Amino acid sequence: CYTVDDSGTTFQRPSALPDISARRVLLFGGTFDPPHVGHLAMAQLALEQTGVDEVWFLPSPSPPHKADIGDDTFSWRLKMVETLLDGRPGLRAVPLESFLPRPSYSVDTVRACQNWYTQTQFFFLLGTDSLAQLPTWHGAEELSQRIAFYVARRSGHPFAATLDAVQSVLSDVRATAIEMPLLDVSSTWIRERLEKRLDVFGLVPPLVLDVWNAGP
Ligand code: ATP
Repeated sequence: CYTVDDSGTTFQRPSALPDISARRVLLFGGTFDPPHVGHLAMAQLALEQTGVDEVWFLPSPSPPHKADIGDDTFSWRLKMVETLLDGRPGLRAVPLESFLPRPSYSVDTVRACQNWYTQTQFFFLLGTDSLAQLPTWHGAEELSQRIAFYVARRSGHPFAATLDAVQSVLSDVRATAIEMPLLDVSSTWIRERLEKRLDVFGLVPPLVLDVWNAGP
């Protein structure tokens, strides 16, 4: 693990991480348990609409709000994301958070990216449900000063009202909506169906399902 502090220390980028020339990168953190069409749609539409060079899917080894998800499934979830993105230019799976402390806080991720890729401007992609939770995130204030957000629609959390509520707590938050149809699908709902051996009819591509079925 690398120490991630804000003392101005320069620490090296792990050589396993891409050496990129992209000038603008959109970071997309998630659990991806499993990745699904909602993740793919928001990333593809964000790639088209924001003018970033790349979207980086960053599977979280240890999401702070999900106690039952950990390092034991990280490689498996990463493999599913790699499979989902295979042959899709501009969308990349990056195991960046595996090099950072646990639990995986987005503020650590963003700080590390900005230190490791000094020529690159970073943005952050999330759904409106996650935006609503932002004030509860560890280091939320620093995070919102460091990075601007692009936000995908999710049911139950209208963008404008959610942003107003968040900005009443965190005045520095900069967020722009991605234009997209509402895709009311979640990994939780898909897992429930998969556990009952029910069809997920294209919400998860067949090759990703093969990885899911092989298990961690
Ligand atoms: P779970 O049901 O296990 O909590 P999830 O489907 O919400 O999973 P995550 O990997 O936790 O998926 O989500 C990563 C990010 O993608 C979050 O910011 C979430 O808001 C966003 N997201 C996930 N699914 C959608 C969707 N269908 N539409 C818009 N945003 C989404």
